[in-house]
Amino acid sequence: NRQIMLKDYVTGSFEVSDLQLHDGTCLLQLQEGTKDVLLKNLYISPDPYMRGRMQKRTNSYVDSFLPGSVITGFGVSQVVLSSHPKFSKGDFVTGFTGWEDFSIVKGESLRPLPTGNSFPLTHFLGVLGMPGLTAYAGFYKVCSPKEGDNVFVSAASGAVGQLVGQFAKLLGCYVVGSAGSKEKVDLLKSTFGFDEAFNYREQTDLDAALKKYFPNGIDIYFENVGGKMLDAVLNNINVFARIAVCGMISRYESAEPYAIQNLIQLIPKRAKMQGFLATDFSHLYPEVTEKVGVLLKEKKVVYIEDVTEGLENAPTAMLDVLHGKNVGKKIVKVSDP
Ligand code: NDP
Repeated sequence: NRQIMLKDYVTGSFEVSDLQLHDGTCLLQLQEGTKDVLLKNLYISPDPYMRGRMQKRTNSYVDSFLPGSVITGFGVSQVVLSSHPKFSKGDFVTGFTGWEDFSIVKGESLRPLPTGNSFPLTHFLGVLGMPGLTAYAGFYKVCSPKEGDNVFVSAASGAVGQLVGQFAKLLGCYVVGSAGSKEKVDLLKSTFGFDEAFNYREQTDLDAALKKYFPNGIDIYFENVGGKMLDAVLNNINVFARIAVCGMISRYESAEPYAIQNLIQLIPKRAKMQGFLATDFSHLYPEVTEKVGVLLKEKKVVYIEDVTEGLENAPTAMLDVLHGKNVGKKIVKVSDP
């Protein structure tokens, strides 16, 4: 049973060598009465929040990984053995699994994948998984969107951002996205239907860029990056703007403090800024599967994934996400069913 383990707590920039591949053991049997399930892991999901779990911290909503322990995260797996009445051999499930070939997990922590669906298994780590739920709940429940709103999305081509932009377009909003390469900017406009997009790395003046793309100001900002971008957005919000704080990836590896200058704009603009966690909206998974599933089938929403082959390459895939080398939702394929 190959396993990816945290070498030691990460300080500063994450490096591939912070995660190490070990040959571990896994007893291919279950103890009676535990309701445990033995899983063969098929796909795992390197997500930005996992960077935070690699450092020593006590004040977070999710525990740090322990040095020498297996990395865990969202995965799609197939049941090999089950002592839980809800699951049988061969079932496809999703939930928290290990970055390893096989995992033993509590049955009640798993979500069965809908049977007879025609979606690729990878979709349950992306558009129909946690990132899809994040985009859906973050946009529809936190942003209070309405037709005609001017919407800005950062990290817009990523797992969450590409969906937020498409949901906003479906509602009749004007939508602009920022991303870190020409390829991503092209994707935003040609594939995801954003009205405008720009490469934030090429902008010397983010405030001027936002003024150019939002001559009528910003009503909704879906925040994925934080730092200078948030400051520039605050300078361009409209009265009663809503800022959904989903993530601040530009800050995840930075030891230098960054003071937001323009927070005061929330007062004259009577704007709302709200953080949220996808996990608070887990009850919406069935709604996301159904409603977004229909949008996918009708091709009203498209979803781009970026699959890395092989468990041994999961550390590099993690680095790719933190450095913006992923194009769409990054997923690691561990095994065929
Ligand atoms: P993505 O697929 O968007 O991948 C991360 C992207 O972030 C990179 O591709 C890169 O895109 C961008 N990025 C990396 N470093 C920087 C930087 N220094 N400045 C600006 N952009 C950077 O990831 P997700 O869609 O999974 O996550 C997007 C955000 O949503 C993250 O902040 C994440 O933490 C957050 N999140 C929050 C959840 C919640 O429950 N609140 C749940 C899921 C995600 P580019 O090339 O465009 O720079």
